[in-house]
Amino acid sequence: MANELEREVARRRTFAIISHPDAGKTTLTEKLLLYGGAIHLAGSVKAKRARRHATSDWMELEKERGISVTSSVLQFTYRDHAVNLLDTPGHQDFSEDTYRTLSAADAAVMLIDAAKGVEPQTKKLFKVCRLRNIPIFTFVNKLDRYGREPLELMNELEQVLGIRSYPMNWPIGMGPEFRGVYDRQARVVHLFSAEGSHGESEVAERSVSIDAPEIREVLTEAELTKLNEDIELLDIGGDAFTREKADSGQLTPMFFGSAMTNFGVRPFLDAFLDLAPAPTSRPTTQGPREPTNPKFAGFVFKIQANMDPAHRDRIAFMRVVSGRYVKGMNAFHSRLGKEVRLAKPSQFMAAERTSIEDAWPGDVIGLFDPGQYRIGDTLAEGATDVAFEGVPRFSPEFFAVVRSRDPLRRKQMEKGLEQLSEEGTVQIFQQPSMGMKDPIVGVVGALQFEVLQYRLEHEYGARIALDRLPFSHARWVVGQNFDPRSFDWEGNRQTVQDRDGLPLVLFRDDWALQHAEEKHPELKFVSEAPMI
Ligand code: GDP
Repeated sequence: MANELEREVARRRTFAIISHPDAGKTTLTEKLLLYGGAIHLAGSVKAKRARRHATSDWMELEKERGISVTSSVLQFTYRDHAVNLLDTPGHQDFSEDTYRTLSAADAAVMLIDAAKGVEPQTKKLFKVCRLRNIPIFTFVNKLDRYGREPLELMNELEQVLGIRSYPMNWPIGMGPEFRGVYDRQARVVHLFSAEGSHGESEVAERSVSIDAPEIREVLTEAELTKLNEDIELLDIGGDAFTREKADSGQLTPMFFGSAMTNFGVRPFLDAFLDLAPAPTSRPTTQGPREPTNPKFAGFVFKIQANMDPAHRDRIAFMRVVSGRYVKGMNAFHSRLGKEVRLAKPSQFMAAERTSIEDAWPGDVIGLFDPGQYRIGDTLAEGATDVAFEGVPRFSPEFFAVVRSRDPLRRKQMEKGLEQLSEEGTVQIFQQPSMGMKDPIVGVVGALQFEVLQYRLEHEYGARIALDRLPFSHARWVVGQNFDPRSFDWEGNRQTVQDRDGLPLVLFRDDWALQHAEEKHPELKFVSEAPMI
């Protein structure tokens, strides 16, 4: 068993892709699944694309519960690795779930459109990865089109994100002349040819050592000269690659390719699986929990209600941290202080939900939830005193007052709000200092307001009106002598409380926040809820 556990841990890789909409996350995900042998793309790419464009509507997507929006993890096998790709909803449905999912990942792949560089959503997600110091790999996509020069992109990563990069490979050509990548460590040029394929199948590949005489047959004089010059520049002027720097997220290994044509996908996947960490230990109240600890332990990082409207079910997604999970086992639920049975596990293989028998560290399982789980809950086998550090709550950026349109159904509205806040769809704040009963909801993506309205009406029968508020930051207040009653400032800031009664201030804009920070050096305004 111990050996089996070690083996299963060593071969697992659990990661998420972070990107801005349209950078190519769906396409790259498909291609990773293609190379992992999990799907055959003929037909499927088209179907998915049609679906995406036919309806910009999240509700349709919600109904389908297909791979793009709400399934939580895709598992596939590649070169004997069991790979878990956690889905981070990244489109308009950008929500706190997107952030939280990163707490279950051991590494992130930052996908960048070569023409657009670092975009706003990439920046936000990058920051969350930085907080956890997880390794970040960069895949520069769409090299089949003209984009920015690779050196310029490296510079942008440093300027905008503050991270140095190490190109593991280097593109040969760009746009229609994009022919392949040069692997700096192996000193090998990989040339690809699409020949009639539109990316539905693995691309043909030829590899030639840069030191071999044939290199002059496969690359033109101009290509070879440019490549040699670029590489010399990188070797002299660039950072040295070290595992430690990559592991701690200080240096990002960088790759180039085109998810659409599959150019560079295999070299990326190979190198990524070699360099990305196997499941790591996680901090608990009892010190770090090693994945090879034979006792099972895991934490809940996401809850999804009503996946099947006919059954009103809730699924709690748990990341396994240590030991082996066996179907139907019991574990101690530290917040409730009692043993629970981990019922009806499911895992998401490619497009379907399947029932599973066991799971190992790094895996994510969906547990049937009769209402007993909350985000951040710890489940541990035979241990009553282990609790993982909570999953952080992130600071919303859009706010609205919620009013019930039907006073007789206020109770339903409150129940729905409570459940959706447990699920993490919205955060709810009260305004006791204003003597107001109507709660304020905060979300990290504006589309969540529509989700909220729709779900309250369809799942709880409560029609609501939302009055948008002009605030864009929420900060928890830490410090003595904070007086909520005198802190409000018409239109610029307002004091509220979160569901645990902790005080927060909503600020209109950067300026209002800065102003408060300058005037009140004795207080700290923090964007993550203090752990309680
Ligand atoms: P997502 O929003 O990040 O999931 O992006 P998609 O995968 O849906 O891609 C957005 C658009 O970019 C689609 O029209 C894709 O066909 C296109 N796209 C994705 N990857 C590539 C690529 O490597 N090259 C080119 N030219 N287009 C791409």
